[in-house]
Amino acid sequence: MPLQSTLSGRSSGSTRALDTQSDGKSFEQLRHECLQNGVLFEDPDFPATDSSLFFSQSVPVQIEWKRPKELCENPRFIVGDANRTDICQGQLGDCWLLAAIASLTLKKDALARVVPHDQDFDHRYAGIFHFQFWHHNQWLDVVVDDRLPSVRNQLIMLHSASNNEFWSALLEKAYAKLHGSYESLKGGSTMEAMEDFTGGVGEMYDTKSAPDNLFRIMKKALDRGSMMGCSINISSSAESEAKTTTGLVKGHAYSITGLEEVNYRGQTVQLIRVRNPWGQVEWNGPWSDNSREWNYVDRAEKTRILQNSTEDGEFWMEFEDFKRNYDKVEICNMTPDSLTDDTKRHWEVSMFEGNWIRGSTAGGCRNYIDTFWTNPQFRLELEDADDEDDVCSVVIALMQKNRRKLRKEGMDLETIGFAVYESPNDEDHQGKDFFRYHASKARSRTYINMREVSERFTLPPGKYLLVPTTFQPHHEANFLIRIFSEKKAGALEMGSNVDADLPDPPMPSAPEEETDEEKGLRRLFEQLAGADKAISVRELQQMLNGVLSRRKEIKFDGLSLSTCHSIINLMDVSFHSLLSDSFQASGFRMSIKFTLLFFLPTQLELFFLDAVNQVDNTGKLEFQEFKVFWEKMKKWIMLFLSFDTDRSGKMSSYELRIALKAAGMHLNNQLLQLVGLRFADANYDIDFDDYLTCIVRLENMFRAFQAMDKFQRGRVKMNIMQFLMLSMNV
Ligand code: CA
Ligand code: CA
Repeated sequence: MPLQSTLSGRSSGSTRALDTQSDGKSFEQLRHECLQNGVLFEDPDFPATDSSLFFSQSVPVQIEWKRPKELCENPRFIVGDANRTDICQGQLGDCWLLAAIASLTLKKDALARVVPHDQDFDHRYAGIFHFQFWHHNQWLDVVVDDRLPSVRNQLIMLHSASNNEFWSALLEKAYAKLHGSYESLKGGSTMEAMEDFTGGVGEMYDTKSAPDNLFRIMKKALDRGSMMGCSINISSSAESEAKTTTGLVKGHAYSITGLEEVNYRGQTVQLIRVRNPWGQVEWNGPWSDNSREWNYVDRAEKTRILQNSTEDGEFWMEFEDFKRNYDKVEICNMTPDSLTDDTKRHWEVSMFEGNWIRGSTAGGCRNYIDTFWTNPQFRLELEDADDEDDVCSVVIALMQKNRRKLRKEGMDLETIGFAVYESPNDEDHQGKDFFRYHASKARSRTYINMREVSERFTLPPGKYLLVPTTFQPHHEANFLIRIFSEKKAGALEMGSNVDADLPDPPMPSAPEEETDEEKGLRRLFEQLAGADKAISVRELQQMLNGVLSRRKEIKFDGLSLSTCHSIINLMDVSFHSLLSDSFQASGFRMSIKFTLLFFLPTQLELFFLDAVNQVDNTGKLEFQEFKVFWEKMKKWIMLFLSFDTDRSGKMSSYELRIALKAAGMHLNNQLLQLVGLRFADANYDIDFDDYLTCIVRLENMFRAFQAMDKFQRGRVKMNIMQFLMLSMNV
């Protein structure tokens, strides 16, 4: 559901994390219950079975789920400190997660949120633990039981170097639960986990094409509490985790834990400290643990910076060597709510949720100009420039939601990206021509199949239009957009208003002034109508099919009875008077103004007659009404034909927005998505009958609503009777 919530300037730091257990109970409740009943918690939401481990492969060895007390003498949640040596990789290819956990241990306040310290193996122990993760702009509290997968009494997944410390293994389990299984954690970027631990927004730098001041950017980021990771690219999967002669591991996620400048033989040298989450295998080049460069550094400096030179996975290297050897740097910028220190600068955040749905809003990138414009569009207003600058810094991050969880169902990441245009002044959803004739001002560097695409821009103050897309059209996903700006920015979704500007239909011509077409129609009408001079639904169907079959440019299988029923309701007074009867029945007094609003002018007369005679209309259409309808119909046919450019008798469902707009009705993305799902076929086309049903029903409902909403407040009150009358009759 497209939903806007602008969180600018509001810190959600104090908001409580959402309990996620399916029975709705909190960690405290569950632990209390277990303690009272004298049992250890067994999590029904993430059972100790193979399905929690893998979804695509069978379990390779005999795995036993064991509780820490079955694995060692004196288990502890945290031994000493929760620090980066507590994170040793297990059987899973989730080094990206481990590198993020390692970075997290360096930020005590962030760590305390993810790993609440109110738990241990002491008197309150009940086999249950909990952790908190940021998930789609919401902090979630995830509980786990402490049964951990093991083989021969050894933990096979993430574990601590000390064999009686369990916080890191349990954290991995909770994160696996959040994503559906341990296997779901295979492969990822450090950034992803960093964001989930902090709610921050990631930025990526390619070291080979990085800005000259990358060291400064990184140093500043580290000082501002950002988390950072780095990695070496691989060109094939065979290269994954291959070791270089200098001791570095390819395709492996490292964390960055320090940046320093030292005086070396009279020169300033920039150094960076990197950590291998394996807790071993280190760089062996210049400035590594026991390299001779350190002998030329002032002893106090050396002690302060080097700290120790043990084989712990952590090492220093010269920044130039770092850039030569590593390819990618990931920085996770903190949101205000993850920064506790008020003196630190922080970002203003705006946020939107939305989705790409086949047949309505899954428009694809600019290469697909016919559908590109149908993507959700957002306006961003950058009013104030950064301090000491005349441009606005903004980081735009587009995230696709829930993909890791959907992998189980065979769905992988979509290829996503976005473009930024200068925005026109109106708040309308922009059409094809706007994008045909305007070039983008900025865009994501590439379209890529990652969970999140983010990019930093500096833009002059002004109004911008942001269009998030999948690369190809018709690909579905839910997304979250976060816009981080130095100064507060306004943001809104384009075309989010739902309204209708429906003109009163023209008065039907007097019988003596009828055109030849109308005279022809009258003859046909009278043949069908018989003595009562009105046609029923079936007769209308017969009549319209007869007339339309002569229009060679419309190819279709005939109008359905249901469409004709809606047409009768649109034109016929009975539908409206039934509705108004129920208003009277419920004690609603109709004012004259109300009745005037409620009925089409041509029907007023009939209404008053009917009101006197007590409505007995059974849903027939008289010729005067039919004439009014026929005028509408001609306009709708013209609209349909203008979108059915290949004369296939169908129009693209993506074009429905324009067709409805031309008919005076504005729908937002959510409604267009619904209509698309309901009426479009497998090729995202709508045939003439469905098109007509859709347009007639919408006009019916808009008119009914506008009549009931007599003070134009945008809302109406209905009782069950009225509601059912409307929904069954439309
Ligand atoms: Ca520890
Ligand atoms: Ca070391």
